[in-house]
Amino acid sequence: MKIFNSAPEMQAFSLGQKQKGRKIGFVPTMGYLHEGHLSLVKRAKEQSDIVIVSIFVNPTQFGPNEDYTKYPRDEEKDKSLLEGLGVDALFLPTPEAVYPSGFQTYVEVEEITKKQEGEYRPTHFRGVTTIVSILFNITMPDVAVFGQKDAQQAEVIKRMVKDLRFPIKIDVAPIVREFDGLAKSSRNVYLSEKERQDALVLSRSLQQAEDMIKAGEKRTSVIIGKINETLASVDSSRPDYVRIVEAASFQESEELQDGKSYYILIACRIGKTRLIDNLYLEL
Ligand code: AMP
Repeated sequence: MKIFNSAPEMQAFSLGQKQKGRKIGFVPTMGYLHEGHLSLVKRAKEQSDIVIVSIFVNPTQFGPNEDYTKYPRDEEKDKSLLEGLGVDALFLPTPEAVYPSGFQTYVEVEEITKKQEGEYRPTHFRGVTTIVSILFNITMPDVAVFGQKDAQQAEVIKRMVKDLRFPIKIDVAPIVREFDGLAKSSRNVYLSEKERQDALVLSRSLQQAEDMIKAGEKRTSVIIGKINETLASVDSSRPDYVRIVEAASFQESEELQDGKSYYILIACRIGKTRLIDNLYLEL
């Protein structure tokens, strides 16, 4: 596996691959890799000739009181996991290599970034769309794989790619969970043993919501009410939001309609750790 720390070297490699007619698959990550990330790499491999993974904890997508400085890192383990999967190239830049002095250009998707995660993390998506644009220009992928774990992010990226006409296919991979239902996340390492148990309330409440919907419930306020009740049954939980949105637009709706697809979205703190989870539903 080739490892590149500088943008020009990474870009030269990608250009060389493109000139040889090879299809590039790309998976952007912030490292501390788990099976969720690895499932993205496997999907990228299936759809391309060579796979590039980036590991970059992107400062511009963290708010001032968020966990940028303590975000977990384990480069050596990450490298060996990626090597084991046969990844061709790893882009591992420093913040200065990505944002050199004088940097002043940002990419902003306007509407669907305003609600849900955008309400609680107002500068987050601007950081995400800016870094993803930079990484797309450096790695020049034909296909890029994102996780449904960050469902709104995936939708924002799709909108950006469409609006700015990036010639890139965006593939979205399903959520990989622990054996007991907890969505895999690099941030799970922050949880104490008790909090790790408490955190199951997110997937459990989504499961309950799915059961209610299967039993015929259509009123989103009733479904959201039940999820909030379940979240409140765990004393370490502090929900930021529970929302039900139409999958294509991320618009909230009052009543579920047959033939449409929805996401049930949860953002909830367990102790000091902020977790997100969601369920995709086709009615
Ligand atoms: P991160 O390193 O957290 O920025 O995540 C990098 C990519 O992996 C994003 O596209 C995430 O949506 C995706 N991802 C993170 N956790 C999971 C998971 N449990 N299942 C599937 N994809 C995931």
